[in-house]
Amino acid sequence: MVAPEQPFRTLTGMHDLFDPDTARRRALVDLFATRAEQAGYREVRPPLLEELGVFQRLGEATDVVSKEMYEFEDKDGRRVALRPELTAGVVRAFVQHHPPTPWKVWYAGTSFRRERPAKGRYRSFDQVGVEVLGVDDPDLDVEVLALAWSTVRELGLRDVRLVVNSLGDGDDRRNYTDAVAAFLHSRRSDLSEAAVATSERNPLRVLDTKRPEDRAVIADAPSIAEFLSPDSVAHLDRVREGLRALGVPFTEDDRLVRGLDYYRRTTFELVADSLDAAQNAVGGGGRYDGLAEDLGGPPTDGIGFALGVDRLFLACDAEGVFPAPEPVLDAFVVDTTGGGAARDLVHELREARLAADRRYGGGSLRSQMKSADRSGARWALLVGTDELAAGVVTVRDLRTGAEQETIARAELVGALLQRLAPTAGTGRDGSDGRDDEREGTRT
Ligand code: AMP
Repeated sequence: MVAPEQPFRTLTGMHDLFDPDTARRRALVDLFATRAEQAGYREVRPPLLEELGVFQRLGEATDVVSKEMYEFEDKDGRRVALRPELTAGVVRAFVQHHPPTPWKVWYAGTSFRRERPAKGRYRSFDQVGVEVLGVDDPDLDVEVLALAWSTVRELGLRDVRLVVNSLGDGDDRRNYTDAVAAFLHSRRSDLSEAAVATSERNPLRVLDTKRPEDRAVIADAPSIAEFLSPDSVAHLDRVREGLRALGVPFTEDDRLVRGLDYYRRTTFELVADSLDAAQNAVGGGGRYDGLAEDLGGPPTDGIGFALGVDRLFLACDAEGVFPAPEPVLDAFVVDTTGGGAARDLVHELREARLAADRRYGGGSLRSQMKSADRSGARWALLVGTDELAAGVVTVRDLRTGAEQETIARAELVGALLQRLAPTAGTGRDGSDGRDDEREGTRT
């Protein structure tokens, strides 16, 4: 192998993620997983790579499918693609394994779209989301919207709006699409070239354009509200009523059509006003009654949403909420004897489920203490020649600066565990009951 002339770098629009961003991401996934599992959802993990056809069902006229997919032929000559979103793979899994319905699943994972990169728009990005298959009840729409809303609220975000619309059932949507196509055709001389091109492939997509010249035109476009069947209206009414009953604030926007072709009836988006308008959707979803059939399964109602993790964090940064969790280190072992004391002690601490670290390569007491301070550990555990000879360890509390103590080596781990065990009012870091429970199991 010849070394490359330049060191390798990530591909355009893709990023390495490091601590503390990785810790923050995991905290978000944990928060979401907890909420979803409390609501009866179980995790699903479809593969990153699927047969191209799975994603083509999302709508050949959509940008995601026609322009942005990473698709290629594998060595067996099969056309495959990296997933641009998770819904299609989840529904394919449903069709393949026919689990009992209702099938309520959540996911967290990466998707790939070859978009023009910008702040909040990447070629590899993470989402968390849910899908439910096999339930037609509008109260489920309320559950799903409320879950998305509560997640965003629990992150601490306040400058986010929930925007709701209905695209009606299949017939309503078809009639409406025809009406919009006719309208756009009649006004094509006023539209931008890009909008005219889009209107020929996917008329509804023109409705959520951001271009001012097109926005003026579409202000006169027909509204979906005029095309909704009585059933679709009843469904939407029940969703509105449910959201109000739960105290989930929302606005309605009859121009909200969303990118993919499969949406029916309820569609929604979460919009963060703290972000640039072009990338301010932090999440979106809706009903997709018909996708399972398109993937070769029985007719099945479906609904879901995805929240964009990268954009949620941009919004959290803008609002100064949901910081990365601080790493917790219980003990830092400072061993100046050069023997096996540090090696053995950190292992013993870790086996007892204490967070422990040390420095390698020796060093003076002073320099090792510096490392201990920097580590953020609660205790420095000092082992010098005197301690070793006496079979003890010197324990220095780095947070309170209390006078140091000497504890017999054999009793050390037990003594530290005892100090960490919950007693009323002395949570480790203002910890809640859940942490206490976890710590309780250590003793
Ligand atoms: P969509 O399937 O396009 O509705 O995507 C759902 C959510 O994923 C969006 O609301 C965004 O928050 C996020 N998202 C979509 N595409 C990207 C991207 N290219 N980069 C970062 N986040 C994205």
